[in-house]
Amino acid sequence: MELPFNLIGEDRQFENLPSGRSELYISPEPQSLWYYEKKNYSQDDLENVKKCVYNRAKFRCELCNENISQVSDARIIYRYEYNYAPLGKHSCRTLKRILLACADCDDTTNYFKTKNYSQLIKIGKTPIEVHLHITDVLSDFRIKNQIVWITNEGVLEKNGIKRMCVSPEM
Ligand SMILES: [Zn+2]
Repeated sequence: MELPFNLIGEDRQFENLPSGRSELYISPEPQSLWYYEKKNYSQDDLENVKKCVYNRAKFRCELCNENISQVSDARIIYRYEYNYAPLGKHSCRTLKRILLACADCDDTTNYFKTKNYSQLIKIGKTPIEVHLHITDVLSDFRIKNQIVWITNEGVLEKNGIKRMCVSPEM
């Protein structure tokens, strides 16, 4: 299946910096989503998303601009908007943007798993700025962990990528 260059429903300006570049930041998945991952989609479909995002980003990491020589070296970062619901209702994260990333930027995004934040230094953050960022992320992470999140990936579904099964919380 060939995906369109612009995925229907995707916001390619989501969280962009004034320069137009996407921002690199550490982004741990809240605990209630640890087993969610992307297991509900077929590998073929996810591979198609990767190829589409790789081609439209012209083989460059959208976070640090590094050239990514082959699609097998590319990583994909899914960016979500988190909406907190009033008490008693489901809070929801909504897929907004799909980014092409190099391995170092992806590892930095997943710092709590990889313990690698070298890319934040490489793009110009000082060690103190990195430390403050980690502190901010941790406090946000603790808040998000108190909530059971549901996931809206309408962007994928609108582009013909269907879940193989429906996760229990949906
Ligand atoms: Zn990168």
